Amino acid sequence: MNTGSIIGAIMKLNLLFSREISDDLREFVIKTLKRFFKKVEIQIVDFSINLDLFYNKLRRQVDLDKLISSLAAKSDNLFLMIISKDAYVPGLNFVFGVAIPYRGAIISTYRLKMTTDKNLFLMRLSKTIKHEMGHVFGLMHCKNYCVMRFANSLYELDKKSSEFCRRCYKKLEKIGVL
Ligand SMILES: [Zn+2]
Ligand SMILES: [Zn+2]
Repeated sequence: MNTGSIIGAIMKLNLLFSREISDDLREFVIKTLKRFFKKVEIQIVDFSINLDLFYNKLRRQVDLDKLISSLAAKSDNLFLMIISKDAYVPGLNFVFGVAIPYRGAIISTYRLKMTTDKNLFLMRLSKTIKHEMGHVFGLMHCKNYCVMRFANSLYELDKKSSEFCRRCYKKLEKIGVL
């Protein structure tokens, strides 16, 4: 799908959670999505994904490259999946999330949760949701004080803005998801 065909279409997002994700957290994710991406219709789905198939036992991490390809093949709509296991893509030690533009994204809460401060965890999660969904709607990494700034560590994630910069915000507005 290119940008042209996404504009004006009803944007539906298939939302998936791995089993262990608590009800509270599910609600938080839905609230975060609804508060920001107002024009996106969310539907919770369950593709009965067996995460074991994507789990690398030696690394004790989920291979998000493989998982996102599998989801992209199953999902008719845009998608976002939240998992709690640690995650990687080949070439990187770990990732907070991955995205395919105009298809979907996956977020792992594993590293985000490495704090005793619940509010900090939720702030990290909400930043990561905005960031990965930004990619889903075609945004690239941004050098501004912006949630689309690339973060390679919790330090960088905590330091960056929780909001889109003016330029990124305008792009999202133009696509029609806000
Ligand atoms: Zn990114
Ligand atoms: Zn930006």
